[in-house]
Amino acid sequence: MVSREQFRKIALYCDEYSCKDRDELDLKSSKDEHYESCLNCIHYNEKGLCDLDLVDKVLSSLSMEQDLKS
Ligand code: SF4
Repeated sequence: MVSREQFRKIALYCDEYSCKDRDELDLKSSKDEHYESCLNCIHYNEKGLCDLDLVDKVLSSLSMEQDLKS
């Protein structure tokens, strides 16, 4: 299960991140949710999945990067 914090990190590193229409976000969420996150990405679908199937890919490259740093 991916946490909200991880979704934020993924969106920061994902080349395909594209923010949903602001109007759509305004209807659905409070102001403090307007940050980069998969949850705010046009590719994130109502099933809670990335249409491009990139979540695992970005997560594994993130963990590889952390391995290199540690
Ligand atoms: S939903 Fe998919 S395309 Fe969008 S930021 Fe997340 S991993 Fe990237």
